[in-house]
Amino acid sequence: MPQDPRYDVLFEPVRIGPVTAKNRFYQVPHCTGLGWLRPRRLAALRGMKAEGGWGVVCTEYCSIHPSSDDLPHPYARLWDEDDVKALALMTEAVHAHGALAGVELWYGGARTANLYSWEVSMDVASIPNIAGNPFQTRAMDSADIRAFRTWHREAAKRARHAGFDIVYVYATHEYLLSRFLSPKFNTRGDEYGGSLENRVRLIREIIEDTKEAVGHDCAVAVRFSADERIGKDGAPVHGERQDMLALLAELPDLWDINISDYSYEMGVSRFVKEGALEPYMAYVKSVTSKPVVTVGRFTSPDTMLSQIKRGIVDFVGAARPSIADPFLPRKIEEGRIDEIRECIGCNICYVGDGKSTPLRCTQNPTIGEEWRRGWHPERIASKTSESKVLIVGAGPAGLEAARALGQRGYAVILAEASRELGGRVTAESRMPGLSEWTRVRDYRLQQIERMTNIEIYRESELTADDVLAVGADHVVIATGAAWRRDGFGRSHIGGITELEPQDRIFTPDDIMASRRPEGRVLVFDDDHYYMGAVVAECLHAEGAAVTLVTPEDKAAAWSAFTSEQIRTQKRLLEIGVEIVTAHGLSAFDGQAARLVCTFTARTRHLPTESVVLVTARQPNDSLYHELFKRVAAGAEGMPRTLRRIGDCDAPAIIAAAVYAGHRYARELDS
Ligand code: ADP
Ligand code: SF4
Repeated sequence: MPQDPRYDVLFEPVRIGPVTAKNRFYQVPHCTGLGWLRPRRLAALRGMKAEGGWGVVCTEYCSIHPSSDDLPHPYARLWDEDDVKALALMTEAVHAHGALAGVELWYGGARTANLYSWEVSMDVASIPNIAGNPFQTRAMDSADIRAFRTWHREAAKRARHAGFDIVYVYATHEYLLSRFLSPKFNTRGDEYGGSLENRVRLIREIIEDTKEAVGHDCAVAVRFSADERIGKDGAPVHGERQDMLALLAELPDLWDINISDYSYEMGVSRFVKEGALEPYMAYVKSVTSKPVVTVGRFTSPDTMLSQIKRGIVDFVGAARPSIADPFLPRKIEEGRIDEIRECIGCNICYVGDGKSTPLRCTQNPTIGEEWRRGWHPERIASKTSESKVLIVGAGPAGLEAARALGQRGYAVILAEASRELGGRVTAESRMPGLSEWTRVRDYRLQQIERMTNIEIYRESELTADDVLAVGADHVVIATGAAWRRDGFGRSHIGGITELEPQDRIFTPDDIMASRRPEGRVLVFDDDHYYMGAVVAECLHAEGAAVTLVTPEDKAAAWSAFTSEQIRTQKRLLEIGVEIVTAHGLSAFDGQAARLVCTFTARTRHLPTESVVLVTARQPNDSLYHELFKRVAAGAEGMPRTLRRIGDCDAPAIIAAAVYAGHRYARELDS
């Protein structure tokens, strides 16, 4: 039971059909980019969540049959006994810490192109592939439906064989079963189409089949959308959903509730805050007596408690908070709430899904590295020498290096040029919607402040002489990067030559430092992540007429991987930022910009008085190079090692800087 009895309720066991979760912390199914491809890495990741106190730990979407294959994405699968062996690694790792293991059985339908198995995809009707491939599905006939039911039943048995305690029926997220529910897609004239009862029939049958196959040993969970279609944020359009849920209410052992708008359910913190699904959940508990779980990027124990006490949910569902801090439940239990590493809602963890690569996390550099590198999110090897380490720069890289080196027991000096710590996360957190970026700094500072072996020097811009005067054994340069002022970037390697007058040229660093352009502003976004859009939003909010120009065919194109692109473009258009796509910037003279079409090279002029260049960053590596030169010349007081990490090494996302700082600390003296 927890140190603070207020949180007792979070640690109550909850019965789910034939099994019992030891507490209310439920890691809902989430992708990892590991899946069937990397079973040992996956098992170690899931096992770590169980070690951290999650009472239930689930897989990602798990294919039941080769006709539901999502290559190139590494989904989980239970096609045969080899897959059983691979997934048994996970259930063993989860059971080792007293947690229940759940598997999200899945059949993709029109969202899968079957690029691995080359089987024809089947769905409720013959519809175009939703992932954008020029294929259509076969409309399932009665033989297909019978086969599908058999495959699902057999996969459920294999799931039990693999050691799972909870088996899912997955009826959301635009996969097969969800389309049977939909009056728009389901145009069938047989007993599976037409009336609401008919559209629910297949899900009912699959729940019954699964219960019959494994229901004595395993709980059967249903993932279901609480609303019918995407409406305004926070204002659900429930439609037929309540009636559908009522028809099935007591059939499964647990309801795992989502919503129609994935970009809201899984929203970045720029657009969606903690506990946002609550209005969608309004009716769910009143319709069923079965336990209910949903997500909400819950990182505050008080919000969790409030949701349970007010009867919104029975479980605290989480994907991202469990990635950012696998030990979140244990920290609440042990009264270490201020040690929670809170998710910042950046969705970098989701990029692995889109790119079919192992996930990474801005806050938790150890995620996915539990097996490959043997990294534990809470433990780290003690120091192996009495070395003193000097870190220059207290951005995410420097702070994480200091925190982890301090945890190892090294004597650390952290020098920071400015008064504020946090580097780019502190600066960026002042831009619209990015306030949660401060969590990257605050978690680390909070840890550092407890350590007596880390000395912090603010307002200490070090020169090479200063560094050498410290006499540290190891020096690590984490001095970050600055946005470029010359237009150099993906579209203009070599820069933009005609850019005058200089005092009308701005960078995101200027905007974050409160320097403001005059007149109409052109934001040239050759970066394609969030910065161009937040600069445009910031300037627009202050009254400027803003045009965002991008060589891509949409605004903030890369942010599609973090599921924020559509919202970003919508927000910009709604507030009145003009967007010009498929154009580069070739010149600016203080009156107008010359834009060049990406496809035809035709030029056009856009009147504008100022330009903000969001193109690329220049590493702040002069200190590193100066020291390097002196090392080569054999100067006095040389450190034994000299390294550069984070943006000063190679400008990238915040997650990369945190990872670099962490890796540096792990590998020192090893
Ligand atoms: P990263 O993302 O790699 O951590 P940031 O740009 O966020 O990089 O942080 C770099 C930090 O280094 C900034 O806070 C900056 O003020 C600081 N810095 C840069 N040069 C020096 C220097 N010579 N001495 C001390 N601190 C410095
Ligand atoms: Fe949260 Fe970002 Fe980590 Fe994902 S990557 S868990 S959104 S901090």
